[in-house]
Amino acid sequence: CGIVGYIGFRDAYPILIQGLKRLEYRGYDSAGVALINNEGVMNVYKEKGKVSNLEALTSQRDISGQIGIAHTRWATHGEPSAINAHPHVSQSGRLALVHNGIIENYSNLKILLEKEGYTFKSSTDTEVLVQLIEYMQKKYDKSLENATIMALRMVVGAYAIAVIDKNCPDKIVVARKSSPLVIGIGADHKEFFIASDALPIVEYTKQMVYLNDNEVALLKIGKKIEINNLNYEDITPEVKEVNIS
Ligand code: GLU
Repeated sequence: CGIVGYIGFRDAYPILIQGLKRLEYRGYDSAGVALINNEGVMNVYKEKGKVSNLEALTSQRDISGQIGIAHTRWATHGEPSAINAHPHVSQSGRLALVHNGIIENYSNLKILLEKEGYTFKSSTDTEVLVQLIEYMQKKYDKSLENATIMALRMVVGAYAIAVIDKNCPDKIVVARKSSPLVIGIGADHKEFFIASDALPIVEYTKQMVYLNDNEVALLKIGKKIEINNLNYEDITPEVKEVNIS
């Protein structure tokens, strides 16, 4: 029920954990985090229960990296468990994704993907999304952002998502439809923050973009935010100065 993400020059883990705690008021049954370390290894940790349980799980583990996504889950499809917690990882291990909302046509998409050789570890609706994005990336040789658009064009439902690719550790792709998602822009676009609401972001930056429905944003270090809608039209990001005390 909450999403947090970071890409930039600071250690992502403390920002992500702090952010999840700021979103605890929304309610959740499990929590997880995915980080890409400086060797290009993606580490994913998930735990049932409180964010503090997740912290206990990661206490002796590699939590390094300046890019990561994190999630608190309120289960809709599949029981609350570590396996069903987000982030979900694609078949090849390349992509990790967090999702708030419901993918209504997930069972049809699952059948399609199973025919293409994909297998599923969880019983969530969400896992089809990360596999579908990887499928598009491979089959059509697309960038992460374009594969995400192609995948979302096939999806019926509500979502806020964030996706990372361990082969491209300089970007995060986010999208929304009927679930909120806010992007915080750091100075000179050297870092970006994402969250379900502004609370986890305000202490770092006031410059924010509220993503609109059917929009997919590419957050790339050193570049301005690029937004496209699901019809591949360029959207000019509307940057707001947000003040919350
Ligand atoms: N429908 C997804 C699941 O059950 C996401 C739930 C949420 O928004 O936390 O895993």
